[in-house]
Amino acid sequence: MSRRIGVMGGTFDPIHHGHLVAAEEARWQFDLDTVVFVPTGQPWQKPVGVSPAEDRYQMTVIATASNPAFTVSRLEIDHQGPTYTVDTLRRLRAEQPEGTRLFFITGADAVLQILTWKEPDQVLALSEFIAATRPGFDLDSLVNQVPGAAGRVHRVDIPALAISSSDVRGRVARGAPIQYLVPDGVARYIQKHRLYRGPAGG
Ligand code: NAP
Repeated sequence: MSRRIGVMGGTFDPIHHGHLVAAEEARWQFDLDTVVFVPTGQPWQKPVGVSPAEDRYQMTVIATASNPAFTVSRLEIDHQGPTYTVDTLRRLRAEQPEGTRLFFITGADAVLQILTWKEPDQVLALSEFIAATRPGFDLDSLVNQVPGAAGRVHRVDIPALAISSSDVRGRVARGAPIQYLVPDGVARYIQKHRLYRGPAGG
């Protein structure tokens, strides 16, 4: 059988248990051999800054260390300048044997924006998509809106995605606990490096 690789794309600022549940559920439901987490490089579409790439990468490594099917790639964070999913998928595909199927896993909100991405038709040709949704999310509109999405965009419902990175950052900023929302090692990393202490959790 051909290899099936999950590519878990996200800012991961910080990575939390919702992301980890989503990746493991996708691995299981889609029979993936491995899931490669790819923290984003410079977020050119975001109006406000995010934490340094190295911090986001380190937290992702810590969070995924105990799962033998999970790895973390520096592909985007080591890239100078803006990064685009289409380029990441091309590079990952070039590293894999012929016939490998890629499944790009990310949040459904992000998938809904796919028409604004670079070369959306190529993105969908290179990889199938697994949209991780918070309960109640309507993904049908996406499949109707995006040419080429039919049969290429799958959805997984992840109740644990009620956890969000912005909520974790806000909680740190106001001194609320984040235990059980993020892995212990990630909570310790945030504390040690004094991340998210600004007024807006920045
Ligand atoms: P985002 O706008 O920060 O996140 C959108 C929503 O999706 C948030 O609710 C977020 O929750 C959730 N989310 C993000 N990554 C997730 C994941 N892996 N699993 C489950 N939920 C996730 O999105 P982003 O993180 O910047 O971008 C997501 C991916 O799309 C990245 O790989 C990025 O490179 C790609 N992208 C590509 C382009 C392009 O090629 N032009 C443009 C935009 C995005 P949390 O905040 O809790 O994570």
